[in-house]
Amino acid sequence: MAETIFSKIIRREIPADIVYEDESVLAFRDIAPRAPVHILVIPKAEIATTNDVSPEHETLVGHLVHVASLIAAREGIAEEGYRLVFNCNANGGQAVNHLHLHLLGGRKMSWPPG
Ligand code: 5GP
Repeated sequence: MAETIFSKIIRREIPADIVYEDESVLAFRDIAPRAPVHILVIPKAEIATTNDVSPEHETLVGHLVHVASLIAAREGIAEEGYRLVFNCNANGGQAVNHLHLHLLGGRKMSWPPG
């Protein structure tokens, strides 16, 4: 896949407000937050979209969700609730083609999404 700005954030070539890192995952605050808490949890591996998730990625994708839940607890939004979103391609509203899980919270979310 073509490299994105998220690879540069992983390599610390551009700054980001990083809130979590381990050997396979990085999480940082969204530059244009849509909620009081808006954090992107991304794999360090370059996976473009959810269409590119294969069986070998199942543990990694589960880890993204687990890390998001840990961060939600740390941010103090776990009990009141939050939303986790993977956007995929044009109709899903995906702008950056590096798999990322949005963690959104700190306010009431509307449903259904627009
Ligand atoms: P998507 O629309 O692809 O699901 O979400 C991409 C997200 O990445 C957007 O919410 C956007 O604000 C965020 N974003 C894009 N470029 C940067 C950046 O350079 N730094 C950070 N922290 N977030 C970014």
